[in-house]
Amino acid sequence: MKTAIFLGGGASAAAMAPVQADLFREYFSLVRQRPEIINSEMYREVTAYFAAFFGIDVINSKLDDLLFPTFEEALGILDLAVRRREAFKKFDLENVSKNSNRIGFLRQYLVLLMAAVLDCKSGDRRRLHRKLVEGLGQKGLLAETSFITTNYDLLLDDAIVSEAACKIDYGIEFFNKKPLNNEVKNVLWVKLYKIHGSLNWLYCPACNVIRLTAKEKGVVRLLEDIKNSDCEQCKSVMLPVIVPPTFFKDMSNAFLSMVWYKAEQALMEVDKIIFCGYSFSDADIHIKYLIKRIQTNRLNPAALSIYVVNNYPTKSEHSRNSEKRRYKRFLGRVVNYTDLSFEEFAANPTCLY
Ligand SMILES: [Zn+2]
Repeated sequence: MKTAIFLGGGASAAAMAPVQADLFREYFSLVRQRPEIINSEMYREVTAYFAAFFGIDVINSKLDDLLFPTFEEALGILDLAVRRREAFKKFDLENVSKNSNRIGFLRQYLVLLMAAVLDCKSGDRRRLHRKLVEGLGQKGLLAETSFITTNYDLLLDDAIVSEAACKIDYGIEFFNKKPLNNEVKNVLWVKLYKIHGSLNWLYCPACNVIRLTAKEKGVVRLLEDIKNSDCEQCKSVMLPVIVPPTFFKDMSNAFLSMVWYKAEQALMEVDKIIFCGYSFSDADIHIKYLIKRIQTNRLNPAALSIYVVNNYPTKSEHSRNSEKRRYKRFLGRVVNYTDLSFEEFAANPTCLY
């Protein structure tokens, strides 16, 4: 029986708290121990942004006293300015002045900053992802499981390659890797479709190729060592492939489109989807569209079963109920809303197989 495990932010976040909620405080407390970042252009611009837009003096205040906007708010207003071709005072889009496009730079800085925080926050989740993959591996279930994730971190990636004879099928071809070959014996290609991108992918917009930076996180290198992050072929600056949690999701990158296509193909074939740490938020209309398509367009829609694993000890009855309603109103009675936490499911994944 083919199964998809769909992971959202809750499967990666420390202590199940959404990382985004406290992302900026987290970031600035990390940065205060890193003089090389404090002296960077990026740091100057990001602090200037918080001062100008939100009246927050990050440099001289106690971080605990500050009230930061959410990541969606901070990036969302810049995204909307770009879409409308408008500007904010002292923060412009590109124009004839050489130092223009402060907004464009800020958007990139905010995305990289999020990558840096996520990279430091993996901690205990590493063990859970390892357990999940190990548990499925021991029962021989990895071959019939497709993983689909909205997370950019490498927790699941690391867990999969730690399994003997397992490699990852990301659904795309990398410029610096041999094409995936199903003919090679004794290698199990585990499907892992990262629909919002990954910290170990770097894209060259000139050559239109994507590079896998293997275990090293190429996106973090962009932040720390920009001089060594050029495309090897054409020397252009490489770009991260990351769709940040914002209202206007740009998923036009050709490789990302391929990942979405592969995810749809895989979901079409499964009999069961297990959502883990995913809250089915109203903002995720692309994901809702994808799930509705594969539910409606299959030969036998009634045969698809859906499980939700998103409980945690401090979760209120109210948020459990409203989440359950969100799932059921959109996907119908087939939704089995379980009491399981991601920890419990990872410890014994076959309980839902
Ligand atoms: Zn290039």
